Amino acid sequence: MKPLNLTKEIEKNEKTKKEILPIMYSYKERRDKILNEEEKEKFREELRRIKEKAIDGIGELKKRTIRNLEKNGIKVIEAKDSKDANKKIKEIIGKEKLVIKSKSNTINEINLNEALKDKELIETDLGDFIVQIFEGKEIHPVLPSADLTPKEISKKIKEKFGKDVQADPEEIVRFIRGYLREKMYEAKIGITGANVISSDGSIFILENEGNISLTSRIPDKHIILTSFDKIVSSREDALKIVKAGAIFGTGQDYPVYVNIISGPSKTADIQDKLITGAQGAREVYLILLDNKRSKILNSEFKELLYCINCGACLNFCPVYHQIFRRYGSDFPGVKGVIISYFKDSGKNAYKNGAFFCTTCKQCGENCPMKIDLSELIRKLRKQLSDKKIAPDTVIEMVKNVRQYGNPFGKLEEGKVPKKLYCC
Ligand code: SF4
Repeated sequence: MKPLNLTKEIEKNEKTKKEILPIMYSYKERRDKILNEEEKEKFREELRRIKEKAIDGIGELKKRTIRNLEKNGIKVIEAKDSKDANKKIKEIIGKEKLVIKSKSNTINEINLNEALKDKELIETDLGDFIVQIFEGKEIHPVLPSADLTPKEISKKIKEKFGKDVQADPEEIVRFIRGYLREKMYEAKIGITGANVISSDGSIFILENEGNISLTSRIPDKHIILTSFDKIVSSREDALKIVKAGAIFGTGQDYPVYVNIISGPSKTADIQDKLITGAQGAREVYLILLDNKRSKILNSEFKELLYCINCGACLNFCPVYHQIFRRYGSDFPGVKGVIISYFKDSGKNAYKNGAFFCTTCKQCGENCPMKIDLSELIRKLRKQLSDKKIAPDTVIEMVKNVRQYGNPFGKLEEGKVPKKLYCC
């Protein structure tokens, strides 16, 4: 492994801070202009109730959802883990070479890019497209390429496509729009995630760019990959989650587009004969991923399944603001740490930052679903410490508390303890 160039890493980190932090702070300001404190709390209570009800009754709710989606012509496939999901996606894709996709944390979670490395897989979200041409990793769930400057992007476009594009955001967007349009019209397969599913048979995907609308409608087959914890009881509840995603995610009162998909495209305009694939996708597949979520559901971390992936917790996290993607796993921050505990091991959760959290509680206070992430990390630390997976100082302190009733060890009258464990 190449040795880490610390100076270079620090410089890179400082640049990331400069580019991304002002954007994250502006989201809070914008959110506070939409909802005052009282409205915000009322909305959070309501959202919490919606998700609690859904997750508590998820067994029956999932069955009802699958029944209604299938009645609407959507093919529902359950996948137990990433390998299974990738296998099922590949079966649907078949021999097609070109695949277009949109931003999705669940797609990242199964590492689809790696599974489809024999295909031409094109990101259609602008930020993700930029990350893809840099061969990097997204820095934030809703701000994937915020750490890159127009100058760097224009240089990369020249390198990759041989095109001179001015280091100006408008020019860059124009170039990428043209490039992606051609790919979209050529592709027969479009893959997206989903934000919410209503048990009455509709799938909700929110976006601002319009790429998801095109990815889900232009190709013949639309594959939606998401997980069962996205299910809520009704379309009314789903629309509230959509609104929360916009307000808490990016400080918008509503997203530019809300795609509500309730089946493949169809028409009965000619002699009332029902034909699928009028202008949109002929076939719609929904892959419902588990990937240890059932295990989380039956654990003391159940609350994590209320998460709507808005990213608001990261906008307030002092640890994430210092080390960004080094904190977490598939998902950044505390959520990513806990997921890695369930998916991989305690050691991985430790490596991903189980003991990084300062327990400042800013995340929970700003989370639309009122998820107390610092309490969840406390529970995780307890489980890890019981397995002796913790910093040495923590193990020593716990041992001392058990043996001497204090964290410092054996105390002697008039003497300062040998180890004070501060800083
Ligand atoms: S934990 Fe809360 S704030 Fe963080 S991404 Fe999930 S819903 Fe959003």
